[in-house]
Amino acid sequence: MDQITHRSYRFFRSSGHTSAYALKLARAERLAFDAGVQTEWSADPDADLSFLSADERSSAVAESCLRFIPCDDCADRSRDCSWPHYTVIGSLSGIVDADSTYRRVVEAEIALEYFDVAPVAQTA
Ligand SMILES: [Zn+2]
Repeated sequence: MDQITHRSYRFFRSSGHTSAYALKLARAERLAFDAGVQTEWSADPDADLSFLSADERSSAVAESCLRFIPCDDCADRSRDCSWPHYTVIGSLSGIVDADSTYRRVVEAEIALEYFDVAPVAQTA
């Protein structure tokens, strides 16, 4: 495990994940970084907030997270890439009141699903 992945691992461990899952998230985060995956958070006006009380609903912030790999042309020019020429790796909607920790976990989980990180071999 390199240093960056190890720091990520510690982050995901401290945010309440098992060591095996924290390692998968850390590796997925690294793969996403290496692949140049970008992230876009936007308001989600269609989120299902029925699990919240009326009071909570009035102050809730619902968002969607989209992760994508920019096209080579935009990546080479370091400019923003837009639909339809990027490749979507995954998205998640209905995320309510996310803080920076929760956002990072969501982003890593989307990457994990896309990159399908293999479980770590257990040594006896
Ligand atoms: Zn582009």
